This record gives sequence, structure tokens and C-alpha cells, in this order.
Amino acid sequence: MTARTRDVEKAAGVLRAGGLVALPTETVYGLGANAEDSAAVSRIFRVKGRPPSHPLIVHIGGAELLDDWVEHVPATARVLAERFWPGPLTLVLRRGPRVPLEATGGLETVAVRVPDHPVALELLSLFGGGVTAPSANRFGQVSPTTAQHVRTELGDAVDFVLDGGPCEIGVESTIVDATGELPSILRPGGVTREDLEAVLGCPLAVHSTSRVRVPGQHPSHYAPRARVVLVEPEKVIAEAEAAQELGHKVGVFLPPSFAEAPVEAHAVVTVPASTAAYARELYGFLRELDQQGCDLIIASVPVEEGLGLAIANRLRRAAGPRSAV
Ligand code: AMP
Ligand code: MG
Repeated sequence: MTARTRDVEKAAGVLRAGGLVALPTETVYGLGANAEDSAAVSRIFRVKGRPPSHPLIVHIGGAELLDDWVEHVPATARVLAERFWPGPLTLVLRRGPRVPLEATGGLETVAVRVPDHPVALELLSLFGGGVTAPSANRFGQVSPTTAQHVRTELGDAVDFVLDGGPCEIGVESTIVDATGELPSILRPGGVTREDLEAVLGCPLAVHSTSRVRVPGQHPSHYAPRARVVLVEPEKVIAEAEAAQELGHKVGVFLPPSFAEAPVEAHAVVTVPASTAAYARELYGFLRELDQQGCDLIIASVPVEEGLGLAIANRLRRAAGPRSAV
């Protein structure tokens, strides 16, 4: 038996016993519990400090299992599941009886996805049931993209951390409301709007930035300790230097086109030119600047196309007002 399989067996045992397992996915690390165990699901909310009205995502082992968890699968949802699973797409559908209300924040809908990570899929297959998992961080903070991030942030509050290496995508899944005739995007993420539209053959509305659509969509989320300020790319250096002059410990997200420019700042990270690389590094950058003691982070949002839409969404929410939660 490989070390990985031994770890997966241990994780499945913890889930069966009602415990919490941090599991790797291609998006971010999740804090998982047996989806059908209300007490274990409730513990996720306590560990995260997440209000119980904020619904979680149920992770399942394959698209063919979807009907076990939801009441009805509309034709468009079936098309999306078959095309994008396993992958970073979450479908919101009507809740089936196996899903306790604790997992949905009391809603009659449930969010479901099949993660595209070999360790997560091995766990789901061995465990046999669904695993409810939000990101494995304290509520409102930066999502973990390595097992070490989880250990540092949650420590003994989680019964077992299943290490599957750094997350490939690095931002959360795209959440699509697929309950109605016309699907809409509730949260941009790892599957791009363009890819969804190409499959569906029609434009998709994106609700996440325009209004509070569902629980769990407060303005401040994905936030580091340092305050995040977003400016136009050409103003990043000047704003950073002005704030540094004022005595701030400034962390800078240097846009790729300015990579060579010297900056007077406490710490600088250079944004990769490819959005895939940027998404993969985004949360690590925020953690790194926190760790270096920055109290202010100056960044700009990328062009909101492809993965740039999800990155811009996370940066805006990291920069959002903090008191609303
Ligand atoms: P997290 O796992 O921390 O990324 O959070 C889960 C996300 O899924 C939150 O943004 C929730 O608002 C969203 N979500 C989960 N269930 C539902 C649902 N039934 N309807 C709408 N959004 C949902
Ligand atoms: Mg989260």
C-alpha cells in the first residue's frame, strides 16, 4: 500500500467517525465532513467561525452520482456536469433528502461539485458518500492552497490534514445557479465564463459583484490581515511609494508590465503575466505579504476575461469593507 492510500484510508476513517478532514482539491484546500452527518457539518461552522446561514459545497465522486444528492437535474445542468466534471464548477440545484439543512444554511438548494484532484477523488471513492467542504480557513480570510497553510491556520481544530501538494488552480470554483431555465454565475472561479458560454451557446449573467445574491457573499472575504487597496495599474508604484512615505509597511502587487521598475516598498511580489499562474499564486502572495508584516497592500485588478474575472472578484472582496461580516 502506498503512503498516499494509507493517508486516504485514514481520512475516510475520520470522516466515518464524524471527524473533520482537510482535503486537497484543484481549487483550494477544503475542510471536509461527512455531508450526511449533521453534527459533523455543524462542527465545520464552529471551526471556521462561519455563520451557520452560509451554505457549503457538497463534493461527490462523479457526475453519475449527482441524482443521489439533488431533487431534479435540469437538462442544462446535466450538460454542464458532463462537460466540466471533474473540475472547478459548482452547480446549485434543488436539495435532495440526503443533504441536511445544516449543509445548505437552511436553503432548499444545494451546491454540488466533483473536484478534479486525484487524492480527493480517491477519498470520495473510498469513503463512498458526499463530503461537505468549505475552504479550510477561518471565515472571511484567505483560502489555503497548501497543506501547510491549513496546518498553520487551523492546527488541532482539524482531525487530519490530507496533503495533496499545492493546488493547481488556486482560486475557488465557479458557482452556477442551475435551478432555473437560464443558468447564471453566482461566483466567478476556475471555469471561465467564456468556456461556460461556449458550451451553453448563450451569454451568462454574473451576479456576484452586482448584488448580494446568497448567504456567503459579504463584501469582505478572502482577506489578508493587511488592508488591500486597488488602484489603476499605472498608479501602483506611485501610490505604494506615497503610502510608504506616510509610514505604512506597504506590500505591492507589481503588475507584469512594471516588473523591472524599482519600488520603494516594504515587500514586493511580481504578478505573473499568465492569469493561470496568477490565480495559482494569488492567495500565497496575500499570505506572504501578511507574513512579511505589511499593513497595506497596493494592487490593481487584471483584465476581467478568462481567469482574470475570478482574480478581480477575489481582489475586490479582499479590499471590501471589513465591518459588514
Ligand atoms: P466556500 O466553500 O468557502 O468557497 O463557500 C461556498 C460558497 O458556495 C459560498 O460562496 C456560498 O454562497 C456558495 N453556495 C453554497 N451553497 C449554495 C446555495 N445553495 N446557493 C447559492 N450559493 C451557494
Ligand atoms: Mg471560503
